[in-house]
Amino acid sequence: MVDLKQSVQYVKGVGPNNLPLLQKLGIETLGDLITFFPRNYEDRSKPKKIDELVDGEEALIDVICASNMNETRFVRNKVILKMLVRDDTGDCVLTWFNQTYLKNKFKVGERYQFYGKVNIKYGRIEMSKPVYDKEGINKNTGKIIPIYPLTYNLSQNKLRGIIENGLKLVLGKLDETIPEYILKQYNLEDINKATMQIHFPNNFEDYSKARRRFVFEELLTVQLALSSLKSRYDKDMDGIEFNKEAKMSDVINELPFKLTKAQLKVLEEIDNDMENSKPMNRLLQGDVGSGKTIVSIIAAYKAAKSGYQSAIMAPTAILAEQHMEEFNKVLSKFGVKCEILLGGMRVKQRREILEKLKNGEIDVLIGTHALIVEDVEFKNLGLVVTDEQHRFGVRQRANIVAKGTNPDVLVMTATPIPRTLALILYGDLDISIIDELPPNRKKIETYPVMKNMEKRIEEFIRSNVAKGRQAYVVCPLVEESEDFDNFKSVTELAEKYKNDIFPEYRVEYLHGKMKQKEKDQIMQEFKDGEIQILVSTTVIEVGVNVPNANIMVVQNAEHFGLAQLHQLRGRVGRGEYQSYCILIYEGNSKTTRERMKIMKESDNGFVVAEKDLELRGSGEFFGTRQHGLPEFKIANLFEDVSILKEVQELAGKIEKADPRLQKKENSRLYKMVEEKFDERINI
Ligand code: ADP
Ligand code: MG
Repeated sequence: MVDLKQSVQYVKGVGPNNLPLLQKLGIETLGDLITFFPRNYEDRSKPKKIDELVDGEEALIDVICASNMNETRFVRNKVILKMLVRDDTGDCVLTWFNQTYLKNKFKVGERYQFYGKVNIKYGRIEMSKPVYDKEGINKNTGKIIPIYPLTYNLSQNKLRGIIENGLKLVLGKLDETIPEYILKQYNLEDINKATMQIHFPNNFEDYSKARRRFVFEELLTVQLALSSLKSRYDKDMDGIEFNKEAKMSDVINELPFKLTKAQLKVLEEIDNDMENSKPMNRLLQGDVGSGKTIVSIIAAYKAAKSGYQSAIMAPTAILAEQHMEEFNKVLSKFGVKCEILLGGMRVKQRREILEKLKNGEIDVLIGTHALIVEDVEFKNLGLVVTDEQHRFGVRQRANIVAKGTNPDVLVMTATPIPRTLALILYGDLDISIIDELPPNRKKIETYPVMKNMEKRIEEFIRSNVAKGRQAYVVCPLVEESEDFDNFKSVTELAEKYKNDIFPEYRVEYLHGKMKQKEKDQIMQEFKDGEIQILVSTTVIEVGVNVPNANIMVVQNAEHFGLAQLHQLRGRVGRGEYQSYCILIYEGNSKTTRERMKIMKESDNGFVVAEKDLELRGSGEFFGTRQHGLPEFKIANLFEDVSILKEVQELAGKIEKADPRLQKKENSRLYKMVEEKFDERINI
């Protein structure tokens, strides 16, 4: 038995200098260390003949040393070392820079392996800065070498050594975490072998087996954790059959605009669900501005006319108020009574609302998390709508649903969720999509720019504000931080704007660490046009509607997920004015440039999200923690769909046979879910 919870500092090679570096990578314990999986591998196991080498590739050669080291000195003590090596197909020149300690390392006539980058010029074959082993030794060559994710000041070699030492402590002693019957049935590698092979695979086949095991385990854990929550509502139970005579068209015909085809189609699906006795469980996805709210208003109308109450949950008070306005605008003339319930309300006012709710004098109750509170009692809750779902967890959804008897549930989200992810999160939900924006929307112009354009952007903001418009400026940090000294912070930038750049305008800031009351106040003043420039973190990313704002500037745009950038962009372009999204980015990596290009060229949130997932992998996609799921250490939702399907099939069977994981054969599963679930899944 090994204690995987022991601090990583006891592993050989982890000194006081490395410890904080490891911690930055999220490695605190021995367990973290051995599950810090490589992001890539270099195959240094198969030597090539010299005449097979290709320019630009990294390759391994197995050769005899054919010359002494030749040393050339340049200005400022720069040294180039060159040495000739040979096999039975040709010669190759090895070069190193400044590594003078190599001078007497190699002996003419002896055999070595070298691994490095090949340069071929005018038929001359060279290899630069190769790593090496003497014949018979396999330290840097002769095997598949793991490459670990971003290591700050920790070199690959150092980290690899530490992980090797960590593995020595645990190998052969790890307790199996997956039940035997599952290992057998799904042909999964056992934990000890898989742990070794995922770090230092003998060959790529063993690597694939190891990876499959860990992906399977990771997905199974999440799946079981989620289904343990979902199984709280019984899908086969009877729900409400809403009245066929309560016609959605009553409202549709009275609207000041024509619904889009997509909206009409979605409403038809919802109408069918509502009239059906099976409880509706539907996810409504639609890009920002696609008009989801009106869909929920019409559904609430049908519920009210059938004699049932609706609960509409929004993630913030501002959004709840916005909804309240829109619901009233449409529904008051039909005699449907809407009310709003927020945190911080006066006791007397709150009591009155709760009283009316219980008596059935309120048809639609709109609010925030305040709706979940225990003493909020409905007379007959028939429809639950949660807006911007990713802000709510599955558990919160379950709590509000429990206030009715199998009410219909409509979950609305503007965060485009790739299909694989939707399968995990909403395996049991039907999905409707609004894939069309209302006509006559002006396209938002998106400009990715480098940091040196700052001055021009400030002037651009100024000229728009002078015309009466408003601007958002989003920063990745709240306060300055040494760790990210090239990142803009909200407080710093707001001060600069207030005092130096825009003293003639009102500049305010907004971030998640502020009190809810303060945030609501600032947001309200921005809505009312009293604030011209709002500097903020991504707290403004969800649903706020300020049609007069036409500029969205994002600082350090390279730091954000594309789906998130798309959400931010959706804050503008909500009125009659031409709107702009300016993405200020740093660094010129190929991925960054590609990502910025996608933002410029696509205004479709689904396309943006899929591309993002493809470019960055699901780890980082989840890194935004938008979905309340843990980051996946190894599963990639793009590549691992087939494993996900196997896992879902298995999870379904387990759910039927042993929903609480109480059978002896599932005790390991219980432990696995409990550990991860409590620590990492915040739902
Ligand atoms: P979201 O899907 O982002 O929640 P909203 O529901 O807030 O979008 O809709 C954005 C705006 O578009 C609202 O002002 C709404 O009244 C308006 N709208 C919705 N549907 C249509 C339509 N079919 N034609 C014109 N305007 C519409
Ligand atoms: Mg909305």
